[in-house]
Amino acid sequence: MAIDEIVDGLSEVSCDVLVIGGGTAGPMAALKAKLKNPKANVVLLEKANVKRSGAISMGMDGLNNAVIPGYATPEQYTKEITIANDGIVDQKAVYKYAQNCYGIIEELDSFGIRFLKNENGDYAVKKVHHIGTYVLPMPNGETVKKALYRQLRRARILISNRYMATRLLTSSDGRVAGAISVNTRTAEMLVIKAKAVILCMGAAGRLGLPTSGYMFGTYENAANSGDGYAMAYHAGAKLANLECFQINPLIKDYNGPACAYVAGPFGAYTANNEGRRFIECDYWSGQMMLEFFNELQSGKGPVFLQLKHLHDKTIEEIEQTLHKVERPTRGLFQQGRGVDYRHESIEMHISEIGFCSGHSASGVFVDDFARTTVPGLYAAGDMASVPHNYMLGAFTNGSVAGIDAMEFADNHDFAEFDAADVAAERERVMAPTRREDGIPPNQIEYKTRRLVNDYLQPPKVTRKYELGARRLAEVRQDAEQRMIARNAHELLRALEAQSILDCADMAVHASLFREESRWGLYHLRTDFPDKDNENWFCHTLLGKRDGKMVSEKRAVEPYIVPIAEEEKDLYDKQRIAVGA
Ligand SMILES: Cc1cc2nc3c(=O)[nH]c(=O)nc-3n(C[C@H](O)[C@H](O)[C@H](O)COP(=O)(O)OP(=O)(O)OC[C@H]3O[C@@H](n4cnc5c(N)ncnc54)[C@H](O)[C@@H]3O)c2cc1C
Repeated sequence: MAIDEIVDGLSEVSCDVLVIGGGTAGPMAALKAKLKNPKANVVLLEKANVKRSGAISMGMDGLNNAVIPGYATPEQYTKEITIANDGIVDQKAVYKYAQNCYGIIEELDSFGIRFLKNENGDYAVKKVHHIGTYVLPMPNGETVKKALYRQLRRARILISNRYMATRLLTSSDGRVAGAISVNTRTAEMLVIKAKAVILCMGAAGRLGLPTSGYMFGTYENAANSGDGYAMAYHAGAKLANLECFQINPLIKDYNGPACAYVAGPFGAYTANNEGRRFIECDYWSGQMMLEFFNELQSGKGPVFLQLKHLHDKTIEEIEQTLHKVERPTRGLFQQGRGVDYRHESIEMHISEIGFCSGHSASGVFVDDFARTTVPGLYAAGDMASVPHNYMLGAFTNGSVAGIDAMEFADNHDFAEFDAADVAAERERVMAPTRREDGIPPNQIEYKTRRLVNDYLQPPKVTRKYELGARRLAEVRQDAEQRMIARNAHELLRALEAQSILDCADMAVHASLFREESRWGLYHLRTDFPDKDNENWFCHTLLGKRDGKMVSEKRAVEPYIVPIAEEEKDLYDKQRIAVGA
């Protein structure tokens, strides 16, 4: 049998807790669930291979948001993230993360993941954020995935690689009942009944097209095609603040950061084509991205990461991390371009758009126990709504989700689902394989993402969004009626293309709903150019009602860490005045 020949089969298994997505949050969720109840069955389902999947597949340069005693307190961190995210934060979840993350760092350390320490053996944290000090470098961060995988094997977690989850199953009273998945090598379908399900499928990273022109040259791990967002939506979960897009400053034509988080503490900085600093702080926020965008528009672009003023030895040390840990291709890329940081600054650009709470705030709505609005369904990591979460947030909230989900599973039996839902999903999934001729998935995906760039990339213009919605509906018609999949691999791509379309529709809907501008470039609406705290100091929740997309407002929970009036707009004051 050819490796990706289509096999029309369906089987069913069951477990207590099903974790979908084996990148960062997923392994930790599975581990913690299993440790909570070693007798229970925990399944970790992954589209790729857990050994090398997700955003941290090759390693990570550091923890961007470590709250380490002696450097920062949970209160300071909660305040910083509240201000960085323009006030739209349910602080309880952020505060809980800030309280728990130090314990997780110690645990990761005990797994063999190495963090930078000073001569006294204390963690050596660096300042990158606007106010506080939270960045903990990982000079040996290439080992992170390996160390994590060892723990999964030790705890005897059942790992199902090469299974792409496509839809969640729910009972008539709205509880989660399991998930449906497809083998990416054979196209056989697998139904997994579960008492609780944890979604850890990462960001929606294949929404826009990257400037490099490569469809898979995205900032995010390219397997993260927004399936988690789409699945949560179709299962009736609410999604928060999707209009708060992820947009990052990247190396031009390369799918990685420049990276001021690594090089900044050594003295590097973001500069315009005159070599001048124009932003005070290199920590990624919507306002920082707006200043970046303004500089590009002003004729003072391109924007660069400037290192050439640094000593040779310092640059060598920076290269040791930047070229070896998180993106080992980076050195080769710069070499290919003939760029030596000693002589030339690194050209940067604005990334494609996506959804991601890890860097921004767009995610499936969760509370401080990682619970979504569907009973028994949890979400953690980049696809859950806790803002500016990053890798440590994925680990920490993955841990919270794992423990709470196992408690839920211990106290509930399996929920019943309707067999007709499985049959309907089987029809949807297999439809592209049953056509003789038609449009291949890569063309559907390319067209969707080109439209996303044409119509949805901020600044957001109402008229463009309305036209974009119409064009996307035409692509959807093509996808539903004419897309073909000639082997199992193409079927995976066809399913991903449908998730991307769902995410594009959600991006339009959420953006048109919030009639103001907020989060700098992330939600800059030319028709509503000002921030409107009177009407829009709230979350927006997007959901599905009677088969239709709807949005509603949700009040921001009262702060547990108060923010003084004069502190609220600290992140708005990023621009360095000319002559300063
Ligand atoms: C280039 C880059 C650099 C970064 N640098 C840093 C840094 O230096 N410091 C820091 O703190 N943070 C950094 N981050 C952020 C951090 O890596 C992420 O926030 C974190 O890893 C997200 O974890 P996650 O589990 O949500 O997603 P991921 O780790 O991406 O895992 C998602 C997993 O879900 C799987 N999946 C997706 N869809 C399906 C499906 N349908 N069925 C089954 N499985 C599926 C994917 O294959 C993947 O394995 C960086 C991110 C990127 C992309």
